[in-house]
Amino acid sequence: MTMIEPDETGRFGDYGGRFIPESLIPACRQLEDAFRAAWADPGFHAELDAMLRDYAGRPSPTTEAKNLSERLGVRVLLKRDELNHTGSHKINNVIGQALLTRHMGKRRIIAETGAGQHGVATATAAAFFGLDCVVYMGEVDTQRQALNVFKMELLGAEVRPVVSGSRTLKDAINDAMRDWVASVEDTHYCIGSVMGPHPYPWMVREFQRVIGDEALVQCRAILDGADPDVVVACVGGGSNAAGIFAGFADTASELVGVQPEGGAAIGRGLPGVVHGSKSLLLQDEEGQVTEAHSVSAGLDYPGVGPEHAHLDAIGRARYETVADAEVLDAFQLLSRTEGIIPALEPAHALAWVMREAGRSIPAGATVLINLCGRGDKDAAQVMGMLKP
Ligand SMILES: *Cc1c(COP(=O)(O)O)cnc(C)c1O
Repeated sequence: MTMIEPDETGRFGDYGGRFIPESLIPACRQLEDAFRAAWADPGFHAELDAMLRDYAGRPSPTTEAKNLSERLGVRVLLKRDELNHTGSHKINNVIGQALLTRHMGKRRIIAETGAGQHGVATATAAAFFGLDCVVYMGEVDTQRQALNVFKMELLGAEVRPVVSGSRTLKDAINDAMRDWVASVEDTHYCIGSVMGPHPYPWMVREFQRVIGDEALVQCRAILDGADPDVVVACVGGGSNAAGIFAGFADTASELVGVQPEGGAAIGRGLPGVVHGSKSLLLQDEEGQVTEAHSVSAGLDYPGVGPEHAHLDAIGRARYETVADAEVLDAFQLLSRTEGIIPALEPAHALAWVMREAGRSIPAGATVLINLCGRGDKDAAQVMGMLKP
């Protein structure tokens, strides 16, 4: 089996592990024990499944995109995770972690956020479960993402602007970790992607595998028992991709992760430690982390989750890149052909399919795309780019 548990040190091959201050080790151990117990408990799964159904709106459908298929000459299926409450796959993970927070007897949840989407999702789950919520956000990002700051506050969370360093995501991560060291008795640190020290990359993938588990069954129903030839997802930290890949890891489907050209940690990155685990990340000759650049704030991240670095190393998944201009074309094409405005992140996955249909994807092949977010949040930005 391809995507199973990491080894006991949290390694996926050469990647993963726990590269954190000594003071955080007990917190990670406690979390790992709590997650293992919960994940083996049918009662926990029953609660989680009920929340995903009644609050998040799962299962999300898999839709055959007939107009787009005709246009591209390949058969396109869309996994519609943009239909979830709050508009993306992030809710799957935060519901899981918020439920776990309650099972651990904790009443406070903290998170860090860059573009703000994970902060909003965490504040949403905290409101529902009655948890105190603090979100760390670089001061620069609070200015760029003022609407998300307002949403988090509306949902009852406290947003703490981080003024140290470059005042962006990596400084917010440092402050969130510092908070957690001091507050671990009653606080859970909710990480938003398959990043961070063990057990996070594994735990977050397990909370997201519902995407792939549903899609496998739905695709087989549509395809008379067959699996898609290719499964495609965008990769920032890599949680939506890990979630859909997990459902297809043991099939013959080819797995493709699509990164922004300016944030291709797999391909242009080097091994290094970021956010508490070893993976691939963009860095200069001195080993200083360099900034990623993408039209999509949600993919603007210099690292990638360790399991993706491993899937690349063993050749089970393939990682590609697309340029911002291709992403804008894909954003418009899906809107026009299918009446679905995608988020800029999954527009990366679609952009790759548009480019490769009839080339590395043979004509007539079946392609499943993880449509992991809706485009409402991006409409104003794209309007500014298309109609300057
Ligand atoms: C946050 C986000 C991403 C990037 O995160 P992954 O962990 O790579 O999935 C992608 N798409 C959407 C819609 C997001 O909100």
